[in-house]
Amino acid sequence: MNRRSFAQSLGSAVALSALATSSVGTESPTGTPGRIMAIAAHPGDGLFTMGAALVQQIQRGGSGALLSLTLGERGAPKEIPVHHYGEMQRTATEKATHLIGADALFLTYPDAEIPFNEESSLAVCDSIREYKPDVVITHWNGSWHKDHQNCHLVVRDAVFYAGLETLTRNRPSHAVSRVFYAENWEDANNFVPDTYLDIEAVYEKWLQACDFYPMWRGQTGFFRYNDYYSALSIMRGCLSGFKHAAALMSDPAQRVRRPQSL
Ligand SMILES: [Zn+2]
Repeated sequence: MNRRSFAQSLGSAVALSALATSSVGTESPTGTPGRIMAIAAHPGDGLFTMGAALVQQIQRGGSGALLSLTLGERGAPKEIPVHHYGEMQRTATEKATHLIGADALFLTYPDAEIPFNEESSLAVCDSIREYKPDVVITHWNGSWHKDHQNCHLVVRDAVFYAGLETLTRNRPSHAVSRVFYAENWEDANNFVPDTYLDIEAVYEKWLQACDFYPMWRGQTGFFRYNDYYSALSIMRGCLSGFKHAAALMSDPAQRVRRPQSL
């Protein structure tokens, strides 16, 4: 099957060698790869589900940041105190983001208690206004996890607030060009990918970054994150004609096209 046939089999989905292409409108005004901000409920979500896109953008000359709303400290195994595990998560995130060349940003909400309210939406709005991303990647809302659901809602409002010129904050408004949702085993309900990103060139570095987290290797729970996400990238690669791919879902508001002709 050739690439055209792949595209036909994927319906309206697009297969991309990078997010920073004009076909999805994520190129910066100067024509260079822009800035991506991944916003995750927990650091592991950020690296495992959004990290490959971050590495890809950075490798192409753009820049990336991971904003974690919590440290994911309540995922601690019995033998490790929750506070200590939170610091382990922070250290792992700093090492992982350093390896891939991204910035690590944190808010301080307690794990399992991310609020969806004006305060949290404005806090994320302020981070967006400070970092000025062209693209934001976050959780899809089809999740059983309360933190993931609230992160999705918080980011939705934060992107709106960030671009609202008449909302006065410490920093001027910033309009995010595109919002994508990452594929996450906990957010799988009604997740329908429409964008397949070729991550082959950054696959090994992405795995190295994920490996800083004990949970990646199944050391803190039952779930085999490494097997799941590495296999998922192969499966998504099979569907898109790449060796390894990250599948993303566009925000429904971005799917409207306005061509002058077909
Ligand atoms: Zn999570």
